[in-house]
Amino acid sequence: VVDAREARQAALRERLAADELDGLIVVHLPNIRYLTGFTGSSGILLVLRAATILVTDFRYEAQAPAEVGSAASVEIAAADLWDRVARLLRGNGRARALGFEDDVTTVATVRRATQAIAGADLRPTGGWVEQLRVRKSAAEVTAIREAARLAGEAFDAAVQAVRPGVTERDVAAVLEHELRTRGSEWHPFPTIVASGPRSALPHARTGGRAIERGDLVLIDFGAQLDGYCADLTRTVVVGRADERQRAMYDLVREAQRRAREGIRAGMSGTAADALARGVIEARGHGPAFGHSLGHGLGLEVHEEPRLSRSNGEPLPEDAVVTIEPGVYFVGWGGVRLEDDVRLTGAGAELLSDGRTELRELP
Ligand code: ZN
Ligand code: ZN
Repeated sequence: VVDAREARQAALRERLAADELDGLIVVHLPNIRYLTGFTGSSGILLVLRAATILVTDFRYEAQAPAEVGSAASVEIAAADLWDRVARLLRGNGRARALGFEDDVTTVATVRRATQAIAGADLRPTGGWVEQLRVRKSAAEVTAIREAARLAGEAFDAAVQAVRPGVTERDVAAVLEHELRTRGSEWHPFPTIVASGPRSALPHARTGGRAIERGDLVLIDFGAQLDGYCADLTRTVVVGRADERQRAMYDLVREAQRRAREGIRAGMSGTAADALARGVIEARGHGPAFGHSLGHGLGLEVHEEPRLSRSNGEPLPEDAVVTIEPGVYFVGWGGVRLEDDVRLTGAGAELLSDGRTELRELP
């Protein structure tokens, strides 16, 4: 059995050879984790034609070798990481043409790298590792499914805390407690609890507003297992939904159902987005759905592919994506429903609980 990390590195090396590069400098931490298993907060990974070397610092002297095993050799830099990288490259005499992640590297880092690695020919290779990450293995899908399962269970436990007089922050605290005690490693993004008119802010910051009877409460939250993220949104009504709340809820639910049933690998991101958007536009609410349908999920909570009007590329098989249509009306409120699916040529496999029925809380 080939270690998944070694297979990923082998795929990168094929591309290095095809592009006549001597190596790749990887600084984006989720990419380093994907290629080696290293979970630390500081490191530079060199993927050379015949060696993989992780340069990190003293804090990871014990952790790094334990995590990476045979997937890389580990060098602990006493001072500057780039000085050590430069020395390693000098030792690998022919490593001159090097790819770097131009999409995530800061100008300052490029300046530092250029200064340290004198004579290197740095070429932009942004997105190479991300493109490998799009297709999830069975083990990766399992991690996301488990994260989504625990997130759904945490929500079921926490939703009882949503009642008049309780603040958004109180609800977030209960939900985050439930997520953590069920095994979530961390919150992949700040939990959103947005109540009443604030639910019209698609990325609201959870605040101190006390929930009132009759409110829509939009809750967007995540869980992380083995580094892999789940991302769910549920919208509930405190008390009985009024006519407009029910109509908007049913509309978003129908849009989400149509997208879940119609999406498949091979379809463009634009076409996937249109599955839900068409339902909302047909009822004249197109302008209220101002964001895209969804995004890839994996080691990062927002990754490729995008289910957006601007993505004309076919969606890859085994990508994991969110499906999250919503409508937002300033001063009134908003509704969003978000579930996570794996794409196949035949359709979508639901990874989260898909519990989108309207919940009217007592
Ligand atoms: Zn979300
Ligand atoms: Zn999302």
